[in-house]
Amino acid sequence: MSGEQFIADRVKSIGSSGIRRVFDLGASLRDPINLSIGQPDFPVPEIIKEAMVRAIRENRTGYTLTRGLPELREKIATQLKAEFIWEPDVLITSGVSGGLLLALMACLDPGDEVLIGDPYFVAYKHLVKLAGGKPVIVDLYPDFQLHPERFAAAVTEKTKIILVCSPGNPTGVVFGESDVRQIAELARTHDLLLISDEIYCKLCYDGPSPSPVRFAPERTVLLRGFSKSYAMTGLRLGLAAGPAPVIAEMAKVQQYTFVCAPQPVQYGGLAALEVDMSAQVAAYRQKRDLVCNELEGALEFVRPSGGFYIFPKAPPHFANASAFVDEAIRRNVLIIPGDTFSEKNTHFRISYAAPDDKIRAGCRILRSLAG
Ligand code: PMP
Repeated sequence: MSGEQFIADRVKSIGSSGIRRVFDLGASLRDPINLSIGQPDFPVPEIIKEAMVRAIRENRTGYTLTRGLPELREKIATQLKAEFIWEPDVLITSGVSGGLLLALMACLDPGDEVLIGDPYFVAYKHLVKLAGGKPVIVDLYPDFQLHPERFAAAVTEKTKIILVCSPGNPTGVVFGESDVRQIAELARTHDLLLISDEIYCKLCYDGPSPSPVRFAPERTVLLRGFSKSYAMTGLRLGLAAGPAPVIAEMAKVQQYTFVCAPQPVQYGGLAALEVDMSAQVAAYRQKRDLVCNELEGALEFVRPSGGFYIFPKAPPHFANASAFVDEAIRRNVLIIPGDTFSEKNTHFRISYAAPDDKIRAGCRILRSLAG
């Protein structure tokens, strides 16, 4: 096709997300039970909306400093100091996606290796490749915990970064504290950078997720966001905090790419930091309990402790998870096959960011498929 001759090899090797395929399949269904969506089903809190609208009305709509609004950065810095006794540099990003890209662009030389636990968030592998690095996949099945010894075995002379995510997408698993401590020690032993994707950190149901910042603050880039905690997915706001030289280079890349996060949304973020989300978190904890109760005994799964996903194993009488997902979609339930997030195709992701009646109806159908 004309135009294809212009496409770079760098992007040709990147397949489009398996999530899109499910969306396409689901588009033909009239009223699907959609358990595939990676965003909260509650609206942006009014206070945040008001702050954004006010900023637009008052023409606070231009560029901000590359690093973000000083008052937003200061507030975040104060919160991080209180949480970790840590005084990192702070950069406001266009979502955690923006922060990930900037961190990888800033730190990877061609061929540098990034250790990534499997299952992983869909973007990780591709972003590492786009930035010129090599993703090295570390198998975390069947319990999806960190397994520091497996990371240790994967370290080579080329390893530069360990990328961790807790609570996890697609598993909802929160890593154990002693494993996080050991990963931090491993990073220190081999002089590696840790990138900690904590986009789901506010959605924890059985106690907080231990951050590597606690154990290796001098070598951690912390990425947090507003998308999942405040339902701000389309508004594109996140933050990166970490060692001054890394944040400075990330800011340099941001200057020439994203320029800055949208100014009115940064005012929304400032308001968000004051908003109490405990009711929403409690509602999601109940949804976690609901989905676990619905699936218990019918499907094998690791009970999630955070986020809004669960990652059960497809029943053994299906050839693989995709075959199971195709059958579920034929019966009107949208879920995502495991090979979207993994080198394996044995599990599937359910998002329980959905109304309770949809969760019940979807689980009933999935149970019936389990036989
Ligand atoms: N990391 C993880 C683990 C995610 O699940 C997502 C969103 N699905 C992101 C990062 C990107 O989020 P944002 O909207 O902040 O770019």
